[in-house]
Amino acid sequence: SQFDREHLWHPYTSTTDPLPVYKVKRADGATITLEDGRTLIEGMSSWWCAVHGYNHPVLNQAAKDQLNKMSHVMFGGLTHDPAIELGKLLLPLVPPSMQKIFYADSGSVAVEVALKMAVQYWYAAGKPDKNNFVTIRSGYHGDTWNAMSVCDPVTGMHSLFGSALPVRHFVPAPSSRFDGEWNPQDIEPLRKTIEKHSEELAALILEPVVQGAGGMWFYHPQYLREAEKLCKEHGLLLIFDEIATGFGRTGKLFAWEHAGVEPDIMCIGKALTGGYMTLSAVLASNLVADTISNHAPGAFMHGPTFMGNPLACAVACASVRLLLDSGWQENVKRIEAQLREELAPTRELPQVADVRVLGAIGVIEMKQPVNMAYMQQRFVEEGIWVRPFGKLVYLMPPFIITSEQLSKLTTGLLKTI
Ligand SMILES: *Cc1c(COP(=O)(O)O)cnc(C)c1O
Repeated sequence: SQFDREHLWHPYTSTTDPLPVYKVKRADGATITLEDGRTLIEGMSSWWCAVHGYNHPVLNQAAKDQLNKMSHVMFGGLTHDPAIELGKLLLPLVPPSMQKIFYADSGSVAVEVALKMAVQYWYAAGKPDKNNFVTIRSGYHGDTWNAMSVCDPVTGMHSLFGSALPVRHFVPAPSSRFDGEWNPQDIEPLRKTIEKHSEELAALILEPVVQGAGGMWFYHPQYLREAEKLCKEHGLLLIFDEIATGFGRTGKLFAWEHAGVEPDIMCIGKALTGGYMTLSAVLASNLVADTISNHAPGAFMHGPTFMGNPLACAVACASVRLLLDSGWQENVKRIEAQLREELAPTRELPQVADVRVLGAIGVIEMKQPVNMAYMQQRFVEEGIWVRPFGKLVYLMPPFIITSEQLSKLTTGLLKTI
């Protein structure tokens, strides 16, 4: 609309020359209905979130029930069942070493909290100089200040904010493919950096196995085992950002399971509420939490206004229960098999560099960056919702998508590229 164009800022968009936006009337299951009546098959799960699809009666009911009790109370000095129930649900699903839960507002804030935790841990442990971070290239950890500082320095926003950002240590992302052979050379850059800088490094942060918005790359789980060894040997905490990979997307409930490596701190978000509202959590080991707490000032120094929001926690409880009862493994396997089969023909196209599928994620990497505005319009004409970025055209549909709907997505995608 005119008002939208004149006054509303959209993600990564110009105000003087805005990309077109489509007005949504409603969304149900795996479909989005536009105001003009067109219905699109949803291929993005609203950026990894809406795993159960839209307008789900169980999640709707959970929100209504909680609304009738309270939407929000402060978490300082107060607690409530939705926060407690969600904690009880999450603990058996995450790495056993994760025993303390810090609720936060969004993925980026969770990453900020995780980084602060690592710094405060080393402060409490008497090594305040260990306050920097190492990560791998092609990562994405969010848009806030310190989250941005550990995003890929090339595809991220470093060129713009570089001089104002804290300087982190970057090593190349592992080149060994998830389902290929492990190349032991992959770990050498990380080994060298950690050996050289361990005195100033608080933690290694990475997205386990699947790098999301930084490049949609799936790497070998052996990298995580080797990285864990290095962290243990040289006294670094290991932080896993499972904000995108969590809740079944990669074929495991959480991606650490592909490697069997447990982190010291882990961030979850995105699909936590089934895409209903924003909520994230930072999970920590007892060692991390207790070390911080047993040293002055005797508390972890963070506390968002909307921490543990009861409405979000209640919907998250319903979403996690629904996921566990929904036979998500079968759904993700079915989507994975169909994506493999139906995206395979694009491998032959001269403009396609690579095709990869893991769990309910299908990626086509083009040789050249795509014209997003044009492609998005073509996708809408095909009756599908797909939003490419850079050279990447990818699908991560809701787990409840039917085989027919998924075929419509892949057919429309093939026709367009
Ligand atoms: C999306 C994402 C974030 C940031 O989450 P927001 O809720 O957008 O702040 C952080 N890390 C990863 C891996 C993500 O995919």
